[in-house]
Amino acid sequence: MAVRTELLKNIRSVEPYVPGEQPQEKVIKLNTNENPYPPAPGVQAALDSLDPADFRLYPDPTSSVLVRSLADYYGVREEQVFVGVGSDDVLSLCFLTFFNSEKPILFPDITYSFYKVWAELYRIPYECPRLDGDFRIVKEDYYRENGGIIFPNPNAPTAIYEELYFIEDILEHNRDSIVIVDEAYVDFAGRSAMELIGKYDNLIVTQTFSKARSMAGMRIGYAISNPDLIRCLNDVKYSFNSYTMSRAALICGAAAVKDRKYLEETVRKIKETRERAKKELVDLGFELTDSQANFLFARHPRYDAGKLFEELKKANIYVRHWEGKKISQYLRITVGTDEEMDVLFDFLRKQLF
Ligand SMILES: *Cc1c(COP(=O)(O)O)cnc(C)c1O
Repeated sequence: MAVRTELLKNIRSVEPYVPGEQPQEKVIKLNTNENPYPPAPGVQAALDSLDPADFRLYPDPTSSVLVRSLADYYGVREEQVFVGVGSDDVLSLCFLTFFNSEKPILFPDITYSFYKVWAELYRIPYECPRLDGDFRIVKEDYYRENGGIIFPNPNAPTAIYEELYFIEDILEHNRDSIVIVDEAYVDFAGRSAMELIGKYDNLIVTQTFSKARSMAGMRIGYAISNPDLIRCLNDVKYSFNSYTMSRAALICGAAAVKDRKYLEETVRKIKETRERAKKELVDLGFELTDSQANFLFARHPRYDAGKLFEELKKANIYVRHWEGKKISQYLRITVGTDEEMDVLFDFLRKQLF
């Protein structure tokens, strides 16, 4: 039975974000920028300490164990930390909390495609300045009046990282707008904009446990800013869902944060594989950006990306491909283990030559 149009007219209809596939069979999975290595060993011990009898109780609504461990890790106050169910939850709440102007918010035309979905969902006007011919953000495009700014650094799916002077320039030109820097991949790149938080009261930095910390399945993300903006974020959270973080996420997250060495070691391995992968792909004739993330953004001048994507998939190698005009000839390839990357290179070598 079709729903009548009288009902439909008051229903919020949106075009949703399309996540990468999560195939249930075993494949070489290089399509959603997960970490190929397991989480820090302390996470197992944290899980073992969980008592299912406690599951009858609600978790701590303030998420204090996790907030405290992040505050210690970054040397900030607990009032400067907000945690959520992945940075998607944190970012969505940031849109709802901070982007309430009549003026358009700004984000790049090629970027994390969820931004557009949230802007549409919350009916926030937006404009998308174009990246330049080398897929770089043009900072001067962000000098105009706006209702807020958001971009990832490194950007996705271009994998390009901008140095802090660049972020600071955008902050300087936008003292009266909230600027959100989405640092999902910053551990693989360079300095974090977190060090600018004391200097700019309009800056919010978000990060995630999904990439460098190997915990995409636990859904943990966070924002660091000044206490006033974090308070605003918490007020909106408590108006939406008080208990966002499960008991398991809170203690596993806190355990992961404690192991700084493990994070550094995992990141080092991925960066090494990434640099080797750049060379291999160039040898195979690919053109790619200078990735500072845990994925590569590459095109082959003589091979259609959509076709290659399908052929890789048939061979059980999953990468990501979008139909969007400017990037339809590119593949986004997550950096896996050396062994996984070798399977990819062997396949490409056979396919291309
Ligand atoms: C992966 C990613 C996120 C969200 O990650 P969560 O798993 O929700 O923490 C946010 N922004 C960008 C740019 C990402 O690539």
